Amino acid sequence: MTVSQITLNDGNTIPQLGYGVFKVPPADTERAVSEALEVGYRHIDTAAIYGNEEGVGAAIAASGIPRDELFVTTKLWNDRHDGDEPDAAIDESLSKLGLDRVDLYLVHWPTPMRDNYVHAWEKLIGIRERGRATSIGVSNFLVPHLERIVAATGVVPVVDQIELHPAYQQREVADWAAAHDVRVEAWGPLGQGKYDLFGAEPVASAAAAHAVTPAQAVLRWHIQHGFIVFPKSVRRARLEENIDVFGFELTDAEMRGIDALDPGDGSGRVSAHPDDVD
Ligand code: NAD
Repeated sequence: MTVSQITLNDGNTIPQLGYGVFKVPPADTERAVSEALEVGYRHIDTAAIYGNEEGVGAAIAASGIPRDELFVTTKLWNDRHDGDEPDAAIDESLSKLGLDRVDLYLVHWPTPMRDNYVHAWEKLIGIRERGRATSIGVSNFLVPHLERIVAATGVVPVVDQIELHPAYQQREVADWAAAHDVRVEAWGPLGQGKYDLFGAEPVASAAAAHAVTPAQAVLRWHIQHGFIVFPKSVRRARLEENIDVFGFELTDAEMRGIDALDPGDGSGRVSAHPDDVD
């Protein structure tokens, strides 16, 4: 199983497919991440707010996998943007993870009603300069938020991690990212199971044509668009299924068919809008 690597705008590389642990219960996280590492995942996406950084760290420590073969992302939570709080927050995350640096640190949400995401971004720049994070990026930032942090600091995030799946493709953000050499990380790549994505005709027929599951067809669609994905499951069989998407290729017609699942009016969004998250 060879997972493709993506080069970020700071020259570092990230495995294009990883394992996301949102909603993996803390008590089950070490087991789940250990299984993911056994299956072959080398990229783990967690966050302070998920409450399971200790379990991620325990699995990494127990694995014996060399640190430079792993890519670990965590995120700064919304109530820690002000003052020196981001410095304390990364120290706490690193302590829980048992690491001296993360590969990628993200501002989790812009929380525009607090008007402090520029400060948070400036703090992440310092965290990177001190070697506590190798690369820095943002999550849930829309175009005005992205333009503001770049104008204020001149530092372009390496990624923007946004809700993105066939019914909600965020083309405005994705186009901005492509024009500014920012990679898109697609969270909720399977729509979080909140709509009938797998039964949609272009997905079902592409899956049948390649003798793969609908989830694999959707993950392959992300990969061919260049998105970085980290689907979540706590079941070993699905962990194996979800990483097994590098042995087939969707045709242009199949890609266009899945592209057409976005109604284009934003109604396919399944989770919170960034302007509403505090
Ligand atoms: P997802 O789209 O990965 O959906 C997960 C659900 O899909 C699981 O609960 C499981 O029931 C189902 N599933 C997984 N594999 C399947 C398969 N092969 N077949 C059938 N069903 C399958 O949604 P997610 O977990 O929300 O997103 C993935 C990751 O993105 C998270 O774990 C987290 O790391 C990240 N994330 C980030 C943010 C953010 O604000 N930055 C928000 C949500 C998620």
